[in-house]
Amino acid sequence: MQDSSPKRKILVLATGGTIVCSETDSGLKPHYTVEKLLEVLKPATKRHVVRGKTVMNIDSSNMTPRNWLVIAQAIEEEYNSYDGFVITHGTDTMAYTASALSYLLEHLNKPVILTGSQYSLIDSRTDAVQNLNDALLFACEELRGVFIAFDGKLINGTRAIKTKTRSYDAFNSVNFPVVAVVKHNRIHYNRSVFRLFSRPDIQETEDNPPALKVCREIEDNIIVIKLFPGLNPSIFDYLGKQVKGIIIEGYGIGGVSSGILDLSSKVRQLTDAGLAVVVTTQCLEEGVDFNIYEVGKLLPLDKIIYAKDMNTEAIVPKLMWALARGKNPAEVKSLFETAVNGDIQDHPETYYYF
Ligand code: ASP
Repeated sequence: MQDSSPKRKILVLATGGTIVCSETDSGLKPHYTVEKLLEVLKPATKRHVVRGKTVMNIDSSNMTPRNWLVIAQAIEEEYNSYDGFVITHGTDTMAYTASALSYLLEHLNKPVILTGSQYSLIDSRTDAVQNLNDALLFACEELRGVFIAFDGKLINGTRAIKTKTRSYDAFNSVNFPVVAVVKHNRIHYNRSVFRLFSRPDIQETEDNPPALKVCREIEDNIIVIKLFPGLNPSIFDYLGKQVKGIIIEGYGIGGVSSGILDLSSKVRQLTDAGLAVVVTTQCLEEGVDFNIYEVGKLLPLDKIIYAKDMNTEAIVPKLMWALARGKNPAEVKSLFETAVNGDIQDHPETYYYF
């Protein structure tokens, strides 16, 4: 699979983040442009053609859904000129952007690898050199899809979560195996998930792959509510009038309050009114099943949107994407519940883990 010849053409798209930060009087702030990142990759340019473009230069806390569309468009503009793409990005919202691009870039048939670092590239402790070089290594592979390359791991973009604020191993792959690891500059793939991401050999396929289609619209008028003991359901009367979609993070395998603070009935009112309501769990692993407890069964199970074992970082952009595309609540639900790039898995027993 590892292919060092012929030369690959890779585009690095810089968007900001710690990786390009410098110290200012007001704190760390993105400063360096893509040229500085290309200096780090200079040794690799003997083997590959690496070009760069600064798309934006922001702390990823300031990333918005409109920015996701700008990044998707930057890929679209250069799609036919490059074999793969590296996107440098702040770590704080990188998992949201990786998921968003997984939905916005339909029929993506090349690798799009997001990376960044916990320490700026000018910091002596920096992890930028390793992460950038790993990202480049993966961008040169016969892969398709959006991924995060970080601390020697390649993570499916729809399954990544930032779990650590300081350590080098900032990201975890949740409910899905790490797709590959890099050891001594060699890639080792997890074969149980590899087929989902390997680019079909053009010689072996009868038809040309469908062309990249970039979604240009997103409905960002949604909200995430984390359930806690004591949450007053009347807040949903207000929210129901303000937003197009609500994501409720309930408890455990699918618990939503139905006692004195009756949220289940409120959810029924909202779905009857045509609002998109995703009910998920605060537990990171193993997903939901609303058919086990009474507190799950009382939900309007034919109306709510199921996120199964997805994480919130993927649920948010997927709901925004589905709301922009779906013409009615049933279509939004169907779009959302259809698996995209391994974001939902009905048969996790088919995976093995490194
Ligand atoms: N605040 C930074 C950002 O997300 C953190 C980082 O890049 O690690 O842009």
